[in-house]
Amino acid sequence: MSLEKVLNQIKDIAEGVVREEAVAVDREAWWPEKSMRTFQREGLGGFVVPKESGGLGQGLYGLAQACETIGQESASTGLCFGMHCVGSAMIAAKATSHQKEHFLERIAAGEHLTTLALSEPGTGAHFYYPQTQLLSVSENEFLLNGKKTFVTNGGKADSYVISTMGVDPEAAQYEFSCVVVESDAQGLEWGPEWKGLGMRGNSSRSLALKDVKVPAANLLGEHGDQVWYVFQVVAPYFLTAMSGTYLGVAQAALNEAREHLMQRTYSHSGISLSQNQLLQHRLGTLWAKVERTRRLIYHACQQYDSGDAMAVLGIISAKAEVATCVVEVVNEAMTLTGGIAYRESSRLEVLLRDARAAHIMAPTTDILYTWLGRALLEQPILDS
Ligand SMILES: Cc1cc2nc3c(=O)[nH]c(=O)nc-3n(C[C@H](O)[C@H](O)[C@H](O)COP(=O)(O)OP(=O)(O)OC[C@H]3O[C@@H](n4cnc5c(N)ncnc54)[C@H](O)[C@@H]3O)c2cc1C
Repeated sequence: MSLEKVLNQIKDIAEGVVREEAVAVDREAWWPEKSMRTFQREGLGGFVVPKESGGLGQGLYGLAQACETIGQESASTGLCFGMHCVGSAMIAAKATSHQKEHFLERIAAGEHLTTLALSEPGTGAHFYYPQTQLLSVSENEFLLNGKKTFVTNGGKADSYVISTMGVDPEAAQYEFSCVVVESDAQGLEWGPEWKGLGMRGNSSRSLALKDVKVPAANLLGEHGDQVWYVFQVVAPYFLTAMSGTYLGVAQAALNEAREHLMQRTYSHSGISLSQNQLLQHRLGTLWAKVERTRRLIYHACQQYDSGDAMAVLGIISAKAEVATCVVEVVNEAMTLTGGIAYRESSRLEVLLRDARAAHIMAPTTDILYTWLGRALLEQPILDS
């Protein structure tokens, strides 16, 4: 199926079930069950799964647009879908034949939902230094112990891609490992339900891992591959899922502002706000901000999909820039939309709360700009 067709299918679902469910997802902090199951049922679960495993084989350019389209209706749903795709891409990057059969083919068939569990309470924004321990107890089995936090799709996914310290006790800090843990494994203890300020449907829960037995066959890649995973898979897919989602939020805020200016006409003068030059200028400025961010995201994704080694710098910039863009655009749209935007549960209220998460979701905006600076100064991107 062409990307255009897939995106049209996503648009139909986004404007249908995602939109219908969005208010309750935010108000009740419900995980977007109906939307996620619809994506799976309609053959979109394998969005980034390679075609050879039955998936749609889409890259970052497709992922950015899919998350943008969904994020325009519900940021939580965009991120839940995006994190499933990030987990899928992690598994697909160096999948063994067992992992293809056991995970990727089931993901592509819409029978399996996965997600990424990187962040930990101890290391916070420095998610690339996990402290969760993976011990090799036999040739066929590991034992996993540690704590994860803010696991999107937490308690809802069928498997979790979990970062851990390297299996080798001599491994350097950055040589971490990733394993896939199935939801029915013994020793997973979930924290309380997620009740966020925004992104309320994410089910971003904490998870304690207590002597969890993991089959050795669920280890992703080989020893020493991990920096490759961070910069070639985790960063591009994770950053793009977020960039697309928050671009969608920015577009939704812009639409709200435009709609208000078009509709609001004063009774004393009969003049529409759309005729006010200052407001025309402010709306135009907002559009330009969203559009230049969109072009940066799309360009970086196309570079990555075409195999350009420098693409990662654009992808890093794109997530930092979209975070700044979305917060500014939603704030400005609040001003342009006047008092009705300030009502409890107005569309812009939800967008404002959701937008704030863009800066703090790792890699955070400050850390991304620092990575860029380090790269430009020919220093290792990750701090020691
Ligand atoms: C809605 C939501 C969903 C999430 N989903 C997931 C998920 O699915 N999977 C997952 O693994 N994680 C997820 N996260 C976790 C998210 O990535 C963390 O919030 C992030 O790692 C930040 O960690 P922290 O909150 O401990 O912040 P802290 O580590 O306490 O950082 C606080 C601030 O200090 C800044 N800071 C820290 N160190 C530096 C430095 N060296 N230079 C400059 N600034 C610095 C940070 O940028 C940040 O602004 C989610 C978070 C949220 C809010």
